[in-house]
Amino acid sequence: MNTSLNRRDFLGMLSSGLAGMALGGCGGRPVPQRKPNFVIIFCDDQGYADVGCFGARGFETPNLDRMAEQGIRFTDFHASTAVCSASRASLLTGCYPERVGILGALFPQSETGLSSDELTIAEMLKEQGYATAAFGKWHLGDAPPFLPTRHGFDEYFGLPYSNDMWPHHPTIGDQFGPLPLIEGEQVVKYLDDQSQLTTWYTERAVGFIEASRDRPFFLYLAHNMPHVPLFVSEKFRGKSARGLFGDVIMEIDWSVGQVLKTLGELGLDENTLVIFTSDNGPWLSYGDHAGSAGDLREGKGTMFEGGMREPCIMRWPGRIPAGAVSSELATTMDLLPTLAGLAGGRLHGHKIDGHDILPLIEARPGARTPTDVYYCYYAGELRAVRSGRWKLHFPHAYRTMAGRPGGTGGLPEPYSSAEIGLELFDLQSDVGETTDVADRHPEVVARLQGLAELAREDLGDKLTERVGKGVRPPGKYEWDKPKKAEEADQQERPDW
Ligand code: MG
Repeated sequence: MNTSLNRRDFLGMLSSGLAGMALGGCGGRPVPQRKPNFVIIFCDDQGYADVGCFGARGFETPNLDRMAEQGIRFTDFHASTAVCSASRASLLTGCYPERVGILGALFPQSETGLSSDELTIAEMLKEQGYATAAFGKWHLGDAPPFLPTRHGFDEYFGLPYSNDMWPHHPTIGDQFGPLPLIEGEQVVKYLDDQSQLTTWYTERAVGFIEASRDRPFFLYLAHNMPHVPLFVSEKFRGKSARGLFGDVIMEIDWSVGQVLKTLGELGLDENTLVIFTSDNGPWLSYGDHAGSAGDLREGKGTMFEGGMREPCIMRWPGRIPAGAVSSELATTMDLLPTLAGLAGGRLHGHKIDGHDILPLIEARPGARTPTDVYYCYYAGELRAVRSGRWKLHFPHAYRTMAGRPGGTGGLPEPYSSAEIGLELFDLQSDVGETTDVADRHPEVVARLQGLAELAREDLGDKLTERVGKGVRPPGKYEWDKPKKAEEADQQERPDW
C-alpha cells in the first residue's frame, strides 16, 4: 500500500507540475494555469430514486437533470455505509469508517470525533493553496477540536450534528438541548425553525464562490435536508405533488441551480468539477417524510443497496462529455484520491481505501472501476462484500419495515428486525437483491469469503468478533459539562 501511495503522491506531483504549466504567452514560455475548483454537494438521507433522472415521482428536479445532461450520471455509486457520521468520515478521508474509527451517528457532546491525525479533502487542498468552506451538516464531532475549522476548512456555517437532535424530536426530544447554528466555531443562534437552512446554505455557497473567483476553491455544501425533520422555505412550500418531502427536494434542486448559475456567470464552468450525491439511503420508518430507493432493497441503516447506493451526478464542461452515464462501481471514498490527483495534492503516506476514478469521471472509453472489492460495513459489522456483479451477505440481523409504509407527518413507525443468512446476489441481473444464488455459485461464495477475511484482518468485524490491525483511533475529547443526551458517545442504535 505504501508503495502505491508513494507512487500516487509522485504521480500527483508530476501531474500537478504538468497541469500547472501550459505553453502560452510570449515565445511559448510556460505560464501557470489555475488548479480546478471542486464543489461537493452532499445531501442527507436522499434516496437513490429521489432525483428526477434517477426515477423520482411526484416532483421534478430540473437543475439536477440538466446537470446530468451536461455531465455524467453514475448508477452504481455508493456511500461507504448507511448512516450519517460514518458516511461523512469516509467521504472526507477516503477511508472506510472503521479505519478512522467513526461509526454510526455521533450525538451532541460526543466524546469522540474525527481525529486530527486524519487527512481530509479540505486539508489536502488547503495545502495546495485552495480556499475552503463547509456549509451545512458536519456531524464528525461537535467538540472544538473536531469542528470543520480544525479539519482544513477556512469557513464553516451550519449544524454540528443531525437536525433532529433537538428538543422537538418526535419521540426522544427530552434527551436533547437546543439546536445550535454555528459560524466558524461560535454558536450564533439556537434554532426552533429550520425552514431557512437550505436558503442560508445556498446564499453562503454563492457568496463563497464569488469571493473565491480568483483562486482555486473547494466548497463542501452538506445540506441538512432531506433528513427529518423536514423543513422548506415559503418559496417551495406546497409546490410538489409528493408533499413536504417533494417540496424539500425541489428546494435542494433550486440550490444546485443557484450554484451552477453562479459558476456560469463567473466564467468558472470549465474549471470546476461539481459533484452531487447523498450520505445514505432513505429513512423508511418516516414513511411519507422519507425518500425512495426505487427498486433497491431496504434503506438507511442497512447494507442492502437501498441503504448505500446513491444518486450521483458530476459536471465539468470540457472535461466530462455531456450526457455520459457510468454503470461502473464508484464510492465516496474515491473522491479524496481523485481530487488529490487533479489538484496535485499529497496524501502524506495516509493509508486510504478509495481510488482515483478520473478515467470513470471523464467517461474515457473502456474505463473500468479500480475497485475490485468493496466491503459493506455497518457499525463495525462486515455485513456484505461486493466484487464485480456479485454481492455476498454474511449472516446478520437488520432493521426493516417489512413492507409496512412507515409513519406520516414526521412521526416514525418502529422498525422490526429480520435476519439474513449467507446469501449471494447477482446485482447485474438482480439489483433488488431478491434471489439468493449462493447454491449455484459456490466458487463465487468461496472467493468472496476469502476477500472478507482480508478485511476482517485489516478493519475488524464485530459479527465474527475480530479486531482489525489497520484501524486508527478516533479523536477523543473530555467535556467539562454534563452531557445533555443520555448517550452522547458513538451510537449504534438500530433506530437512528
Ligand atoms: Mg444521513
